[in-house]
Amino acid sequence: MDLKSNEPFWLIKNGLINSYPSLQSDESCDVLIVGGGITGSLIAHQMTKDGFDTILIDKREVCNGSTSATTSMLQYEIDVPLSELIEKIGENGAVKSYRACADSILEIEKLAKKLGSQAGFQLKTSFYYATDKADLIRLKLEYETRKKYGFAVRWLNTSEVQDKFGFQNTCGGILSELGASIDAFRFGHELLEYNQKRGLRIYDKTELRSVQHKRGFNLATTENGSRIRAGKIIYCTGYESAGMIPEKIVSLKSTYALVSEIDPVAFKSIEKTLFWDTDSPYLYFRTTDDHRFLIGGGDEDFQNAQKRDKLLNAKEKEILTKLKKLNPGFEVITDFIWAGTFGETKDGLPYIGEHPKFKNAYFVLGFGGNGITFSAIGMEMVSLFMKKKKHPLSRYFKFGR
Ligand SMILES: Cc1cc2nc3c(=O)[nH]c(=O)nc-3n(C[C@H](O)[C@H](O)[C@H](O)COP(=O)(O)OP(=O)(O)OC[C@H]3O[C@@H](n4cnc5c(N)ncnc54)[C@H](O)[C@@H]3O)c2cc1C
Repeated sequence: MDLKSNEPFWLIKNGLINSYPSLQSDESCDVLIVGGGITGSLIAHQMTKDGFDTILIDKREVCNGSTSATTSMLQYEIDVPLSELIEKIGENGAVKSYRACADSILEIEKLAKKLGSQAGFQLKTSFYYATDKADLIRLKLEYETRKKYGFAVRWLNTSEVQDKFGFQNTCGGILSELGASIDAFRFGHELLEYNQKRGLRIYDKTELRSVQHKRGFNLATTENGSRIRAGKIIYCTGYESAGMIPEKIVSLKSTYALVSEIDPVAFKSIEKTLFWDTDSPYLYFRTTDDHRFLIGGGDEDFQNAQKRDKLLNAKEKEILTKLKKLNPGFEVITDFIWAGTFGETKDGLPYIGEHPKFKNAYFVLGFGGNGITFSAIGMEMVSLFMKKKKHPLSRYFKFGR
């Protein structure tokens, strides 16, 4: 699957941070992680920390899938609002999912500090706003629901939004205290480098082709015939997992993002906040730690890469026109624009757990706008699964739910 167009910003900004050898021999390990994006990197960190002899393989260079294309907003706010998620899956699962996402932002912060990360982790507030009056009742209900369950939120009315951010056409919105941003591409690389020094074996350009389930272990074969004997396999294969799993678990789409030239002054009023609106598809933006304006949106309900990439110029125009309506003062000069595959699940939640067709294995598939925070939740979940324990979110994130 072609996960992204040619110019994802993080790949260009960071270049090839680390490259690893491909696997050319037979190996064995306790845990084989398939996929070295941000999810695989986080899970590899947990497995190494838990003392498992771990191998990670990726068919590309590591972090070169969706992780190189992400806009890396870290939010506890799931694509499905809390009030709607309660209706879909009940209060217990919905509130626990939101709280787990909030906790995972702080977990990522801790981890970034521990690693001495240069990936620009920044805590930010998050502003979820409406430009259409028709969305206002729904948004106010969401505000009341979040307040009821103890999330630190404040309602900003039209004039407060105008004063604080200079936005003209909003009907108000929810300002949340907790959010963050990071360069997930760099952070993934940092996690892998850190854990390689602690025994993690990493092989890139190594594609898993088949797995035989033996009694008590898996025998994985790569495209060049190398074999890995692994007690457990953890699939962190991102959106490409949709092609592995027989039932439909995710709707794949195309999405677009662009980043401006560096301007340390122009976007000062918004640099401490993440923004997203209630439209469908939603527009979202933030600044980067090197003072660029990063904005995404324009989702299309198809996944064909050629068709997707042909729309790049039209999408740039569409996204920037929408932004201009919000704040005519923003002068965004595009430096890079790219497109990527994106996936939505029926309830906005990830798939983390066992699949009946894959024995001795777990999946960590952090789909949706919260992919990265979900992947961080996956660390704790998989750590418990490996100890044969359940996690309170298992039933809400499981296959066949
Ligand atoms: C434009 C865009 C904006 C986004 N914005 C946000 C955001 O603001 N916040 C957020 O949280 N999320 C966001 N996301 C989603 C986020 O990027 C993803 O959730 C995240 O990158 C997924 O990481 P991953 O490691 O699971 O997948 P990937 O980065 O795709 O990694 C999976 C890896 O598995 C490897 N692989 C697959 N099959 C095999 C195989 N058979 N053998 C070996 N290796 C294999 C692939 O090569 C790949 O490197 C965005 C996504 C896009 C495209």
